[in-house]
Amino acid sequence: MGERRGVVVLGATGSVGRSTCNVLRRHADRFRVVGLSAGRQSDALDLLATEFEPEFVVLADSGQRREASWTGEWRYGAAALIEAAADERADIVVNALVGSAGLEATLSALEAGKRLALANKESLVAGGSLVVRAWRDGTGDILPVDSEHSAIHQCLAGRPSGEVRRLILTASGGPFRQMPVGEFADIRCADALVHPTWNMGSKITVDSATLANKALEVIEAHLLFDIALGNIDVVVHPSSIVHSMVEFQDGSTMAQMGFPTMEIPILYALSAPERLRNEFEPFDPVAAGPLEFETMRRAAFPMFDLGLTAARIGGTAPAAYSAANEVAVQAFLAGSLSFTGIPAVVESVLHSWDGGPADSVRTVVEADAEARRRATEAAGNCPDRPGC
Ligand code: MG
Repeated sequence: MGERRGVVVLGATGSVGRSTCNVLRRHADRFRVVGLSAGRQSDALDLLATEFEPEFVVLADSGQRREASWTGEWRYGAAALIEAAADERADIVVNALVGSAGLEATLSALEAGKRLALANKESLVAGGSLVVRAWRDGTGDILPVDSEHSAIHQCLAGRPSGEVRRLILTASGGPFRQMPVGEFADIRCADALVHPTWNMGSKITVDSATLANKALEVIEAHLLFDIALGNIDVVVHPSSIVHSMVEFQDGSTMAQMGFPTMEIPILYALSAPERLRNEFEPFDPVAAGPLEFETMRRAAFPMFDLGLTAARIGGTAPAAYSAANEVAVQAFLAGSLSFTGIPAVVESVLHSWDGGPADSVRTVVEADAEARRRATEAAGNCPDRPGC
């Protein structure tokens, strides 16, 4: 057996980060942990460091530092995160950060020639052509961790985009799939935080309820697989067994299936093209039940079309969409904005958006900050304020 591959996990204490640690724990013969990062959860990071004995850990928010029992190297702040993504002892960087804050780490990993196991879809959406250029021009590679994109990567099996007629992303539809639109204004945080099939962090769970997540995923698929936006369709598939499909030019359609667990796409992103043995629950087509598909209610979930509009505008518009959504979701989670206020805030930011091309990190970071400023203002002015 060859040498163990070095892995840096950014966002190790979040939902995908913890699943990644589970995978690394089970495959300690193949991977060794070089670095781990957390945003604020100093204690959880300390525990992981004691277990995995990395070369270093990074706490992004230095103000959250607690008494630690692990005596290794602690680093602090955003610059340490970017440095960690390029660490020469790492072969693979798992970017499981939340939001567009992960952009510079994504670029850093690609520029340093790493395999980037990407869960932080916002960094790809916001960075757009910048990220694609860093990927195409360098020796780095992107392996998607998102279950839909992992499915597409596996179905494509290296075939060129010219052989693809269309990508079909599946969507669970979220908790409000069948709810009449008239009841949306009464939705509370607790309702939105219960996802029918996937157990995830709060930001992506709300994004799944508004279908913003699916818009981000269409843009992600467009950038990762070089398929035109018009050739990417979404179907609702409530049981989340079929993770996505690829329809090829010859009419053959490939699907990847399994019970919903993030550990399978994470393991694949670490090991591909190799298939490592694992002990996950085996797939049982009978237990999976009938596979049902339905049309997405686009009009009921305006965050989906707003995302596609941003993608068609291009330039810094996707960054603005993603940043405005982050602000609106935070306000919703804080109880100061209603569920229907989320698309209202994002629409007001996009409506007046006249940003130029996203041709440098600085342009994207500035667009992100400007969109946050406008979204914060719009959220403050939003007429419907519920008690969440
Ligand atoms: Mg997904």
